[in-house]
Amino acid sequence: MLNGKDCFLYKKEVDWSLLHEGFSIPVEFQKSVQDHVVRIVRGQSKRIRFAIKTQLFDARVINQAFDEKKYAGHPDVFQVRYVPTSLLALKLREIFEKSYAVLKTLRHEAKKAECRKQVRVPEGAREYLVLYAGADEHEIVCDSITSDDIAIVRLFVDSKDIREEEFERAGEYDFKDLRARIETREQVVRIRRLDRSIGESLKRLYKYRCQICAENFGKERGVDTAESHHIEDFVKSLNNDSENLLVVCPNHHTVIHKAQPVFDGRRLTFAYPNGFEERLQLNIHLKRLR
Ligand SMILES: [Zn+2]
Ligand SMILES: [Zn+2]
Repeated sequence: MLNGKDCFLYKKEVDWSLLHEGFSIPVEFQKSVQDHVVRIVRGQSKRIRFAIKTQLFDARVINQAFDEKKYAGHPDVFQVRYVPTSLLALKLREIFEKSYAVLKTLRHEAKKAECRKQVRVPEGAREYLVLYAGADEHEIVCDSITSDDIAIVRLFVDSKDIREEEFERAGEYDFKDLRARIETREQVVRIRRLDRSIGESLKRLYKYRCQICAENFGKERGVDTAESHHIEDFVKSLNNDSENLLVVCPNHHTVIHKAQPVFDGRRLTFAYPNGFEERLQLNIHLKRLR
């Protein structure tokens, strides 16, 4: 079993609900939570601890009960819950004070306009809570990616003119010839590791098969060759949410970067400049755009 920061669980965008009462864990991340944090059957609720730096906070994980006859085949609905006045909620509002301020303003404006739509921090200013399995059972270790962290990585990536393929394939950056400040190095390595962890968790989800051709070339040969690809270039978007990632075989990965086909998120297809089109054969984690 992987422990501590090695076992990535979930990256969650900071929103109003996260700062006050909790969040849902999407189906593709539930298995990791079950395997590494807490076993929980439908209808059950268990106490867990959140570790933030050296402090521990109480919360609950719930595997929501629902009408299984009415919603046959529906996956588990997994939620992390706490109350708005809890120490955990207070701590989260302190760490993500920028998101909190923006969301408060947006909600105030939405209320005045009598708009019931959920408010969301605008792109470029979004912050994230990253969850890893803790060393102890029932413990989740939290890391935060604030807008300040992202700004540092943005500066670095822009100043180095890093190519997307280089970013995706490099093990770690070689900082030897880069006169980057220590703070910058740390942030870049941290974001880069997180990117790899999210990619690895998706590869496990697809059992190392390519989402485009459904093949696992390495399987018979006893190795894993699956790679993760960013739908929107990471060096442009700095977006390593799972919705921006695909699991592909090395062949498809090379072709995508060479031919630069356009990905259609509604039809889940790649359209190549020469007119060729191919659709994803496997998809568990991408929500089809409307
Ligand atoms: Zn493939
Ligand atoms: Zn790629």
